[in-house]
Amino acid sequence: MSTFNLKYDQGRIRKYHYFMLLSLIQKHKRISRTQLAHLTQMSHTSVGKIIKELINDGLVIEVGQIEGEHGRRATLLEINPNGSYIIGVEVDLNAIKIGIVALNGRVLEKRYLKFNANEEAERVLDRIANEISKLTEQVNQKIADKIIAVGISIPGLISWPEGEALIVPQFRWENVQVKAYLEEKIDYIVYVDNHVRTVLLAESLFGNMTDFHDSVCIYIGSGVGGAVMVNGEILRGHLNTLGEIGHITMDPNGAMCDCGRLGCLQTYVCSSEIEKQSQKSITEVFAAYERKEGWALNLIDRARNYLCVAIANVICMYNPKGVLLAGPMVQDYPILVKDVETLTNKYVWAPLNHSFHLIHPSIGKDSGIIGASALVLNEFLRFTNDEI
Ligand SMILES: [Zn+2]
Repeated sequence: MSTFNLKYDQGRIRKYHYFMLLSLIQKHKRISRTQLAHLTQMSHTSVGKIIKELINDGLVIEVGQIEGEHGRRATLLEINPNGSYIIGVEVDLNAIKIGIVALNGRVLEKRYLKFNANEEAERVLDRIANEISKLTEQVNQKIADKIIAVGISIPGLISWPEGEALIVPQFRWENVQVKAYLEEKIDYIVYVDNHVRTVLLAESLFGNMTDFHDSVCIYIGSGVGGAVMVNGEILRGHLNTLGEIGHITMDPNGAMCDCGRLGCLQTYVCSSEIEKQSQKSITEVFAAYERKEGWALNLIDRARNYLCVAIANVICMYNPKGVLLAGPMVQDYPILVKDVETLTNKYVWAPLNHSFHLIHPSIGKDSGIIGASALVLNEFLRFTNDEI
């Protein structure tokens, strides 16, 4: 091996350690150099050198002290929330939300654009690109200079890592090269993924799921989606569709799903299907449920039952510690998920009874923007780790 290669490899190892420590600090929120050395089996000197680099680069800051070994005080480190910024974009039927997000998930600036479903996909992407350019011109130069990448969350099937929107039924998009198109227009690397993944990532990095490295998200809105995290990593599967539980067949003789098959999970649970079957708006259905009208009780109790069967199956499959229940149906109509824990335990295999925690999202209306930025942060730390 030539000296050049050796040096090159050392550089890569150093870079690897740099991001590994950064990602550990992110994971632990606050941690000392001694704890980092212990966790990584690296020498105190190596950890010290790399931390110095991270502090000089403005990515890590020292915050307070704890009682360390042998009564010595140890300085705690945490990610500098203002060390870098990420642009998060949520593309949704209601609106396109664009924001600049700090490394601790705080949204600094945000803009809303109207989403027009009749508009061509490229026009929508042009408007997003323009708004991003405008936003970076309008914010303080110091912030603009520290923006590292753009994350986009879209409901639908997205290829990974190509970032092509293969099918987005809600927008009637097919094979839209979101990542490639935007990277042509703006000066940033763009990451694109399904919005349920970004919801789970946001709660894992900044919200109610920070203690759960094995978790799933079940998202109920006008459809049903899912995402799975094992040992802190999002699972994607062969075609990046892992977690699309809305189209699991619950009854081969059930009602027609919009995918053309019968008895998919979402025909029982999602708002659009409940509206179709009841011929009433979802608000009316839940109002009737509160008044204990028989037909509404039948519909919603059935939805809850099928949802619990699905959760129990997901628990058998992935053994998560945390099950995040998210989406407009859960947030707007919490009665839907009342007693879901008890009911799920009834369906789940006995050894897994009470093995999981049901979690509700803690991040509010900016969860799409924050989630899209969490996607970037996660990839930024992980991708560089994979380089070695
Ligand atoms: Zn279906």
